[in-house]
Amino acid sequence: MEEDTIVAPATPVGVGAIGIIRLSGPDAIYIASQCFRSDKGTRLETLESHKATYASMVEPDTGITVDEVVFLVMRKPHSYTGEDVVEIHCHGSPAVLRRVMEVLTRLGARIAEPGEFTKRAFLNGRMDLAQAESVAELITSATEQARKVALAHLQGQLSAEISKISRHLYSTLAALEVVIDYAEEDVEEVPTETLISNLQQAESLLQKLLETYREGKILREGALVVIAGKPNVGKSSLLNALLRQERAIVTPIPGTTRDYIEETVEIEGIPIRLTDTAGLRPSTNAVEQMGTQRALSLIEKADLLLLLFDQSSPLTAEDREALQISSRKLRLLVLNKLDLPANPDTLLQVEPLNPIRISALTGEGLDTLKKEMISSLLGRVSMTEHTIITLERHRDILQRSLLHLQDAQSALSTSYPRDIVATAIRASLDALSEITGENVTDEILNTIFSTFCVGK
Ligand code: GDP
Repeated sequence: MEEDTIVAPATPVGVGAIGIIRLSGPDAIYIASQCFRSDKGTRLETLESHKATYASMVEPDTGITVDEVVFLVMRKPHSYTGEDVVEIHCHGSPAVLRRVMEVLTRLGARIAEPGEFTKRAFLNGRMDLAQAESVAELITSATEQARKVALAHLQGQLSAEISKISRHLYSTLAALEVVIDYAEEDVEEVPTETLISNLQQAESLLQKLLETYREGKILREGALVVIAGKPNVGKSSLLNALLRQERAIVTPIPGTTRDYIEETVEIEGIPIRLTDTAGLRPSTNAVEQMGTQRALSLIEKADLLLLLFDQSSPLTAEDREALQISSRKLRLLVLNKLDLPANPDTLLQVEPLNPIRISALTGEGLDTLKKEMISSLLGRVSMTEHTIITLERHRDILQRSLLHLQDAQSALSTSYPRDIVATAIRASLDALSEITGENVTDEILNTIFSTFCVGK
C-alpha cells in the first residue's frame, strides 16, 4: 500500500535548545530537498544516509531562510518507520517549529496522527505490536523500574516469552493434526500424556506471566500507600519525612486518577502514591464522620496500608479499631516515636505484631520501612529475572488464551475427539498472536496507536 508522507514535531512544544521535526514517507526526501540550502551547493538527495548535515532551511518559493538547521536523512528500510525519514533539527522555539511545519505541509506533507510513526514501523515489520506498545510505555515511564521493564519489552523480551508459550502449543497441535489428517493410515499417535504434559508446560508459563500483572501495574501506575492511625500518631510527619527523603515524581503517571491529595515519590524505582487519612474514631460529629468515611474508603482503595501507632502513648480503643478494620488489607504495622520513651503497655501489645519501628522525627527506621513497603508490594517478582506484563490489553489476552488452553486440556483428558482439542489450542494460539500483532484488526490497532502522543 502506497502511503502518504507525514510530518510532526518529535520534541515537545515549548522552548528548548533544539526542536526536531520528522518527515516520513515516500516523498520525505523530495519535500525536504525543496527547502534545503547548503553553502556548498550540495543537494539533499545526494546526502549520505544517517549523516547529519548543517544547512539552511528556506521557503522554496521565496528562498528566505526559516532557520539554520541540521538535516538528517535516513533512507528506507533502515529508519524508525522503515520508510524514508528526514529529521530537521532546528532551534527549539514554538515559532520556529510552527514555521517549519507550515513550509513542510505546504510542500505536501500531512500532519501525522498520534502514534502514526510507530504504527508505520509496526506495519512495515520494523517491530511487532508488543514492541510498538512498549515505545509509548518507555516514553511515559516515570520511574527507573518502569523504564527497565519498558526497555526490555522494546527489546523483544515479552515477544520472546509469548513465542516460547506458542512453541509448546504449536508442537502439540502438530502432533494432533498428524493423527487427524492421516486418520486412515497407520500413523503412530503421540501418547495423550505427552500432549497433556506439553500443554501443562504452556499453561504454567502463561500463569506465571499473568501473575506478574499486579506488579506490572504497580510499576506503571504506582501503588497507593495510605498512612492511617489515630490523630497525633505522626501520620503527616511520616508522609513529610518520606517526601523529603525521596525524589518527587513530576511526570503524571499513566492511568492514575485521584480524588484526594496525594504525593508521588519514587522509592527503589517504584512510583509510590502517598496519602494520609483522618482518624478512624467513630463519632457523632458530622464533619468527623465524613473524615472517617473518607478514611475507610481510602483504606479500601489502598494497595498497601501503613498503620501507625505511637509507642510513647497508651494504646486506645481507636488503635484497636484500626487494627480490626484493616485486618484483611495488605498492611505494615508501624510503631512511631522511637525517640521518645516507650509506654510499656503499648509495647507489650504491639510488639507481638512485629511492627516496624521508626521515628518520623529523626528518620530512624525509615530505610527499613521503605524496603518492607517495596517487598510487600512486589512480593516474589524479581524485576531482573521475570518478564513482566504491564498492560491491561496483554492481561486480557493472556486470560483468554489460558481459558482456551484449559479447555484443550480438559477435552484431551476426557478423551474428546482430537479435532476439538486442536480447535481449542488454535484459539489459544490466536489469542496470543494478538499480543505480537500477527492477528489484530485495524480497529484494535487504531485504538492502541491513538493513545500515543503526536510525533511518535
Ligand atoms: P498526625 O495527626 O497523625 O498526622 O500526627 P502529626 O504528624 O501531626 O504529629 C503529631 C505530633 O507528633 C507532632 O507534634 C509531631 O511533631 C509529633 N511527632 C510525629 N512523629 C514523631 C516522632 O517520631 N517523634 C517525636 N518525638 N514526635 C513526633
